[in-house]
Amino acid sequence: MSTTTSPSPRHLAAMGIQAWRRRGVRTDQVEPDTARPEAGVDDADWRELAQQVASCTRCELHSTRTNTVFGSGDEHAEWMFVGEAPGSEEDKRGLPFVGRAGKLLTAMITALGMQREEVYIANVLKCRPPNNRDPMGAEVAQCECFLHRQVALVEPKIIVALGRFAAQSLLKTTQPIGKLRGEQFSYAETGIPLIVTYHPAYLLRNPIDKRKVWQDLCFAKGILAS
Ligand code: URA
Repeated sequence: MSTTTSPSPRHLAAMGIQAWRRRGVRTDQVEPDTARPEAGVDDADWRELAQQVASCTRCELHSTRTNTVFGSGDEHAEWMFVGEAPGSEEDKRGLPFVGRAGKLLTAMITALGMQREEVYIANVLKCRPPNNRDPMGAEVAQCECFLHRQVALVEPKIIVALGRFAAQSLLKTTQPIGKLRGEQFSYAETGIPLIVTYHPAYLLRNPIDKRKVWQDLCFAKGILAS
């Protein structure tokens, strides 16, 4: 189980930021959501779930993937980070966030005072969309039961949605990320707090927004502490 400590200036520097301030807490939900029950998935244990993902042919992405990317980290983590879908490096290695964006995600986690292994990291989609194209609605619909079960098994105290796509998929909304940041939601019917921040890949292109991400992470930390 992870415990968090105050970030050191060195950890903040690793993320490329220097200072932070608390954001206000709002608790309005975008839209109520009820996940559809999925026979065989909803009662799977970790091993069964991993096997189901590894052999999944629910959508066409199975025909172009090298590996499925299940998720990694502490199966009882307090913090769960959810991204969009595997990229090329993740597809090659079968692990989430192991490319350049992954290095920045690791720095974000370290800045929070944790090791990467202490949190749980997963994606909305378990297979790479060819050429990193945007995931399609039908692919999300086929895949989301796996993430839903992962959340149920981890029982995190907070979920951080990374980027517009993950946020919109998890919250079943079309609202832009700018409207979703800085608010406290809950994931589906679980009641688990969920906050939204920018995707690390976006931050690589827009490092100026690292400060906003740090605000979001501090907001999440405040929710955990309350
Ligand atoms: N981007 C994501 O959203 N997920 C990964 O695992 C890697 C890059």
